[in-house]
Amino acid sequence: MDSYEKFNLKEVINASGRMTILGVSKVSNNVLAAQKFGGEHFFEMSELSIQTGAYLAKLLHVEDAQVVASASAGIAQSVAALIGKGSLYHAYHPYTSSITKREIVMPKGHNVDYGTPVEVMVTQGGGQVVEAGYANMCSPEHLEMMITEQTAALLYIKSHHTVQKSMLTVEEAAEVANRHQLPLIVDAAAEEDLFKYIEAGASLVIYSGAKAIEGPSAGLVIGKKDYINWIRLQGKGIGRAMKIGKDNILGFTQAVEDYVRNGSEDGESMKSRLAPFIRELDEIPNVTAKMVQDGAGRDIYRASVQISGPKSAKEVIKELKEENPAIYTREYQANNGIIEFDIRSVNQAEMKKIVARLSEIMNEKF
Ligand SMILES: *Cc1c(COP(=O)(O)O)cnc(C)c1O
Repeated sequence: MDSYEKFNLKEVINASGRMTILGVSKVSNNVLAAQKFGGEHFFEMSELSIQTGAYLAKLLHVEDAQVVASASAGIAQSVAALIGKGSLYHAYHPYTSSITKREIVMPKGHNVDYGTPVEVMVTQGGGQVVEAGYANMCSPEHLEMMITEQTAALLYIKSHHTVQKSMLTVEEAAEVANRHQLPLIVDAAAEEDLFKYIEAGASLVIYSGAKAIEGPSAGLVIGKKDYINWIRLQGKGIGRAMKIGKDNILGFTQAVEDYVRNGSEDGESMKSRLAPFIRELDEIPNVTAKMVQDGAGRDIYRASVQISGPKSAKEVIKELKEENPAIYTREYQANNGIIEFDIRSVNQAEMKKIVARLSEIMNEKF
């Protein structure tokens, strides 16, 4: 009996992309093996944390690295670290009024909700968000004018969730930080490039374990050695509520290594996996299927399916989710009668199930 059956859950086919509400991504056998070793053995945990960090730091050409429970935990602990600066008193009294240098300056257009507001994580770390610029713009001058004696760090969120136009770059934020001798935290949770934000001058960069890296539930903070040490100290304080297990530390470290070595699936591979899927979709009545590239121009290809009645695309999307397996698609174009299938986390057997279910829906008699 598998867990779907045991707990009376629907099998989910995720053709929507990397979605936290569906569990984000699947892990490879290589990663599972590392998790299994972690689950079956004991470790000196502080050494496990330091040595996996050192291993990742070497791989990523940074001073140091720390595996944490999630990118969100990475934000909270980075903020706490840069406020406490290695003080054990602070780790034990993270919200003490005797420490007043707590302001975290960030572009207003970056103060987004990615599932939880960025501000909640900053506050959890003891920081006070100070917004710079306006809803639709933030220049280096806007950022700089909000810096005071109470500023502990600058924060930059690199994400499709944020306002994109008229925003300063990471390089520009780093220049401002340097001029004021302040650390710059970059939250790059879902980004694919593990090198470029450190190269752009960030002091700490944060990634989410299960997004681009396709690891188990985890997060990664890379950057300056002192700051990473201060983050480790949070394990005696707020970090304890964000503890990560030995199985996921090892599984995630393996996932980063595999990701750096192999990258993610490239567009050519997606195209060749998509071709037969699209041919089969296209044979379903009232369905016209074609291949489209990601709207933001990334090297991602998807099946775009035009529904030409009698059901609307919205009805079809709803019906795809209703049965077992529940099939989740990209719904952004539903108003135009289009359903998109993202196959990054879909294997061949699942594509067969999608074709079968969609033909069932389109062939139903009224
Ligand atoms: C997903 C995301 C996070 C949180 O990542 P978790 O690992 O789920 O905590 C933080 N910031 C941004 C911009 C994200 O997209």
